[in-house]
This record gives sequence, C-alpha cells and structure tokens, in this order.
Amino acid sequence: MNRITIAIDGFSSTGKSTVAKRLAKSLGYIYVDSGAMYRAVTLYAMQNNLIQENCFDKELLITQLGAIKISFKFNEELGFAEVYLNEQNVEKQIRTLEVSQFVSQVATVSEVREQLVLQQQNFGKDKGVVMDGRDIGTVVFPDAELKIFMKASAEIRANRRYKELLERGHNLSYDDVLENVTTRDRIDSTREDSPLVKAEDAIEIDNSELTVEEQLETIKELVNHILSK
Ligand code: C5P
Repeated sequence: MNRITIAIDGFSSTGKSTVAKRLAKSLGYIYVDSGAMYRAVTLYAMQNNLIQENCFDKELLITQLGAIKISFKFNEELGFAEVYLNEQNVEKQIRTLEVSQFVSQVATVSEVREQLVLQQQNFGKDKGVVMDGRDIGTVVFPDAELKIFMKASAEIRANRRYKELLERGHNLSYDDVLENVTTRDRIDSTREDSPLVKAEDAIEIDNSELTVEEQLETIKELVNHILSK
C-alpha cells in the first residue's frame, strides 16, 4: 500500500486545515477542505436571500441545489486549491464571520450533505487524499486508513480564529468569535444527520498546547507506521 486516505475531523477552529494542507503537501497528496464546500453553499444561500437572521428557507435551497456547482482550482502561488462557486473564486468571501454564523444551519440539511458527500468521495476515489471536516472518518471515508480527531479548548480555538480574522482585516470582537465557535460546535455535534463524533478508530489529538510542527510530526509518524505495514 503506498497511498492512503487521511481523514481529519474535529471541532471548529482546531487548526485542521493548516495541518491538513501541510501534510498533503509533504506527502504529495491532494487536500480537500470539506468545510469550504458547506461554506460555499451557505454563501449561495445568502446571495439568493434563502438565509437571513431567524429565517432559513430550506425547501427552496433544496430545489436550487442543482444550480450550485462547487469546484476547487489549485493556486500555484498560494500552494493550495481555492474554492469556486459557479466558476467564481469565493475563497475569501466564504471565510467571513457572517458565513460562519449561518453555515452550521445549512450543514444540517440532509440533501445538501448528500450532494457534497458524493463529490467528496469522488475526490478521494484514488486515495492519496487528506480531507478535513466533521464527518470524514465517520461518513465520507469510513474505511480511511488514518483518522485523526482534533480538539482544543474553546478559548484557545476562538483566540486563534480571532487573530486570523483580525489579520485579514475583519472588524469583530473576541466574544463574537467565541460565541460562533461554541454555537457551531453545539449544532455540529447535535444535528441528526452525520453529527460531529469521534470515529471509534480515530486517534485523538488535543492541540491546545501543540505547535503545528509538533502536530505534523505526530501525524507523519502515524502515516509512516501505516505505510510500513
Ligand atoms: O471546517 P469549517 O469550520 O470551515 O466548516 C464550516 C462548517 O461546515 C462547520 O461548522 C460545519 O457546520 C460544516 N461542516 C460539516 N461537515 C464537514 C465540514 C464542515 O458539517 N465535513
């Protein structure tokens, strides 16, 4: 076996994508940010007035799913694939706090999940993929050779996300970010369809006190162990 499937799940803002991106690069694997796909569907819903504060027209979104095309294109300069919604690069637009505030509601819709999961499974059909999200090890790739479950305290996660958003020029408060992180955790963990749970065979990493390098080191050792079997 020389190419495996690596599933990285965990709570919001645990730094999954940073680690997943670096890991994929060092292994020469493709990296898929499944959260970006749910965010792109959410952006579509926002642009088409299907979701607003206290109002979400799920049924109408379901009827429009055929009109939502999500794709990734590799950006050589950035070194990772950016997400496109109907051929438009939305990589920056999907990272706002506003999208974060609606995305978990959109992600509860089974029809949305069904469409995205099929696409995700297709991305990984030849193995050699690192995918991060909430249900990758449980639903998308239940047979993944390596499953990681990331966690860290809510305060540490909110602080990391807050700094990241400030650096990108967003104007918001730490409390809003903390509130968003904990609300998303609650919705993601309690929804009926594909809730965020640790797969039985996943290896848990609490990265509250770990650097990215340390996390990478640990995961690479696990990969080498699997590949040497
Ligand atoms: O990973 P990220 O924080 O960008 O994901 C945004 C949201 O998308 C999550 O809070 C969750 O509601 C949803 N999501 C999901 N299943 C995935 C990935 C993301 O439900 N596999």
